[in-house]
Amino acid sequence: MSRPRQADDNAIAEAVAALARGELVAMPTETVYGLAADATNERAVLAVFAAKGRPRFDPLIVHCSDLAMVQQVAQVSPRAERLAAAFWPGPLTLVLPRRPLIPDVVTAGLDTVAVRIPAHPVAQALIRACGRPLAAPSANRFGAVSPTSAAHVAEQLASSLALILDGGPCAVGIESTVLVPDPQPLILRPGGVTRARIATVLGEPVRLAARQQRLDSLRLASPGLLSKHYAPRAPLVLRAPDEPWPDDAAALAFSSATAPAAGVFAVLSERGDLAEAAATLFAKLRALDALAPSRIVAELVPDEGLGEAINDRLRRAAGLG
Ligand code: AMP
Ligand code: MG
Repeated sequence: MSRPRQADDNAIAEAVAALARGELVAMPTETVYGLAADATNERAVLAVFAAKGRPRFDPLIVHCSDLAMVQQVAQVSPRAERLAAAFWPGPLTLVLPRRPLIPDVVTAGLDTVAVRIPAHPVAQALIRACGRPLAAPSANRFGAVSPTSAAHVAEQLASSLALILDGGPCAVGIESTVLVPDPQPLILRPGGVTRARIATVLGEPVRLAARQQRLDSLRLASPGLLSKHYAPRAPLVLRAPDEPWPDDAAALAFSSATAPAAGVFAVLSERGDLAEAAATLFAKLRALDALAPSRIVAELVPDEGLGEAINDRLRRAAGLG
C-alpha cells in the first residue's frame, strides 16, 4: 500500500531501487501520471498490464531520458529526428521501427515501438537515474479517467505500487499526441502537441487518422484507440451546440460564457483558454463524477489546436469513437 511521496532525491533513489527489482512506480509526467516499469523487464511489464486490468494487446509507450536512449529502443528516421529536435522533451509520442532491446510484451508483438522523452523534471530524473527506458501507460485502472495528480493515482492503484512519486499537478493534463512519422505523418491519437505545430515543423500536411484507420494501422483492436475509454462512472453525454443545458444532470462547460446559469456544473477554463481546459479536463471530470450525478452532460470545445485532443477525449468518454 503506497501513499504519495514528495518526489525528492531520496524518494527518486527508492523508486530506482524498486524499478530495478521489477516493481512498479507511479511517476509524474507533464501529460498525466504514468505507471512505470523497467521496459526491458518482461515480468515487470506484465505486472503493469495486471495492475491496470489492461488487455495485453494494447501496446505501451516507452519513456526515454534522451535521444541516445531512444536510439537504443528504436530506429530514428530523418523525419523523426526533426520532430525530436522540435518537440522533445515534450508530449509527442513517435511510433518507430523497434530494436530488440524492448520485449514483445511492451509492443504487443508489433514491429514498431511507441517512444517519447517526457519533459517533467521528476520523470527525467527518474529515467536518467535508472539508466534504462521505462514503459508507462497512464496510472489508472483500464478504461477510467487518466490521473493528473498523485492523489488520483492513490485512489485506484495504491496497492499495486511500490511508490507514488508526487510531482504536483500535470501541466498539460491530457495524454501525448501519438504520431506515425513515416512514410507519411499520421496522428493516431491527438494530444498535447497540436497537429498545426507538427505540420509547421515538417512543412507538410499531417493527417488525423479516422477511427477505422487507427485500428487498421495498428492491425489490432487497441482499446487505447477505442471508444468508451477515459470514461467516468456516471454516463457522459454530449450536448448538441444549440441545446439548452438540462437541469437534471451535472454539466461540464468549456468557459464562463457557455456555462449554465445555475445547477451542478464545472467549467474547464473560465476565460475559454484551450491549454487551461486541457490541463483541468480530467480533474473536473473526476470532481463531477464524485458527486454521483445521474449523468454528466458535456459540451465540445472549439475544434482547433488542443481542442482536437480535448474533443477526442470527450467523445470517447461519451462512448463515441
Ligand atoms: P496509453 O498508454 O494509454 O497512453 O496508450 C498508448 C497508446 O499508444 C496505445 O493505446 C496505442 O494506441 C498507441 N501505441 C503504442 N504503441 C504503438 C505502436 N507500436 N503502434 C501504434 N500505436 C501504438
Ligand atoms: Mg491511458
